[in-house]
Amino acid sequence: MAYDYQLIIIGGGSGGLTAADLAAELGFKKVLLVEAERQLGGECLHTGCVPSKSLLHAAKQYAAGHKKLDVWHDIQESISFIQDRSDNDANFINRGINVLHGAATFIDDHTVTVGGKTITSKYFLIATGSSPAVPQVFTSLSTTVHTNETIFSLAKTPKSLTIIGGGPIGCEMASAFSLLGCKVSIVQSADRLLPREEPEISEMLTNQLKRQGVEVDVQATVNACAATKSSVGVEITSGNKNSTLSSEVLLVAVGRVPRTNLDLSNAGVAFDTDGIAINKYFQTSRSHIYAVGDCTPSPKFTHLAAHQAGIALSNMVSPLFKSSGSRLDTVPWITYTLPEIARIGASAQELTARNISFQTVEVMLNEIDRAVTDKQQTGFVRAYVKPTGKLLGAVIVAETSSELLAPLSHVYYHNQPLQSLAKTVFPYPTLSSGLNILGSKFAVKRATRSKIIRSVTKSWR
Ligand SMILES: Cc1cc2nc3c(=O)[nH]c(=O)nc-3n(C[C@H](O)[C@H](O)[C@H](O)COP(=O)(O)OP(=O)(O)OC[C@H]3O[C@@H](n4cnc5c(N)ncnc54)[C@H](O)[C@@H]3O)c2cc1C
Repeated sequence: MAYDYQLIIIGGGSGGLTAADLAAELGFKKVLLVEAERQLGGECLHTGCVPSKSLLHAAKQYAAGHKKLDVWHDIQESISFIQDRSDNDANFINRGINVLHGAATFIDDHTVTVGGKTITSKYFLIATGSSPAVPQVFTSLSTTVHTNETIFSLAKTPKSLTIIGGGPIGCEMASAFSLLGCKVSIVQSADRLLPREEPEISEMLTNQLKRQGVEVDVQATVNACAATKSSVGVEITSGNKNSTLSSEVLLVAVGRVPRTNLDLSNAGVAFDTDGIAINKYFQTSRSHIYAVGDCTPSPKFTHLAAHQAGIALSNMVSPLFKSSGSRLDTVPWITYTLPEIARIGASAQELTARNISFQTVEVMLNEIDRAVTDKQQTGFVRAYVKPTGKLLGAVIVAETSSELLAPLSHVYYHNQPLQSLAKTVFPYPTLSSGLNILGSKFAVKRATRSKIIRSVTKSWR
């Protein structure tokens, strides 16, 4: 059967744009990219990574004394730059990819409808992302009650902000808004902030946020929310205590809901509340329909959506040599608070729960000269390893840990021993030279346990 297209990509965010970009680079002409919104870019560009990191950068500058900075304009400037540079229709059309704006829904497993047009394709890649979860108590959203979809369009910094949710998004926003001089309260249902991190790290972050003036309520439930045009009040119970938090603006950041409203059952594509079901090749229950990124049960990161999209496309193109994506445990993640918290692999708690024995190797920031010169003295680089040096997990807490994680991710992904970091020459003075110290500490510890090394060095003792 002849189809209108070889591939229709549904969703022009991180996953969809990566697939479209790769298709363009490969010179494909029978590809259609469908995006529901007027502009390409998806959550990462418009309401996620880019505005949040731009806000954090501006907030740090503001706190350092740049009081004249127009933070809210700065955010839009970063978005526009990336939009103009790459995430726009012309960039794809000029390279042979067709672009159509409108919401796609399935009619059958080879046909979608977009704005009244019926279009057929041999393959589909669904990358429709996710939406913010909004509990019932907040569903009458008003101009004072926000999610990530609206908070970055504020015209000015509010005097006060209540954040519902103490996960990565809630904590990043608390960090940024408090640096901007806003009075912030976080309401967290779990017993600590960032419950996926180790308790010690949650405590470090909580203490830092409190130093920045943030009020933190844990084990808290929201009983009621009443919003007017100029303020919003939430009644909470935290422990046995009832209280009302009143602020100019409220942000709901309690989780994500995969976007699956594309009449998937018309195409026979299985999905549930966790998202569109996929196998290790990113195929849905219909093998010619692939799905990647936030609309699936995968962890919700831009780098993962993009990684999956590249592999899904290559699997469509060469079905006899399909490959699976990287193991999920090799996916790094960072919470961009102050300090930043960067993770790969298992935590100490997870290893203990799984009865895996491990050694901890640690370098405190004040052991790294560059951290000392930069006055970054609170934090550490920590690795969990097998006696052989096999890296099981690592966590870095530092102002700029996001830039330090990449070499450790490389070691982890390629199964290199931790001591390989000792053999690598790192430039001095850099924060990354802390990784060299980490590798050396482990190499020395390991060597002193070796009988051969002990006998060779006997005459030196
Ligand atoms: C505040 C915040 C900060 C974040 N920070 C980070 C970070 O620092 N690092 C990181 O890795 N991740 C971060 N994320 C997560 C990241 O934004 C997502 O994981 C990523 O955008 C997912 O990409 P995606 O392609 O799956 O979906 P999206 O980027 O959401 O793209 C989906 C696209 O599909 C379109 N669409 C939906 N339905 C249809 C339809 N029926 N037809 C056509 N088009 C449709 C949507 O309009 C959208 O453009 C953050 C998220 C938030 C909310």
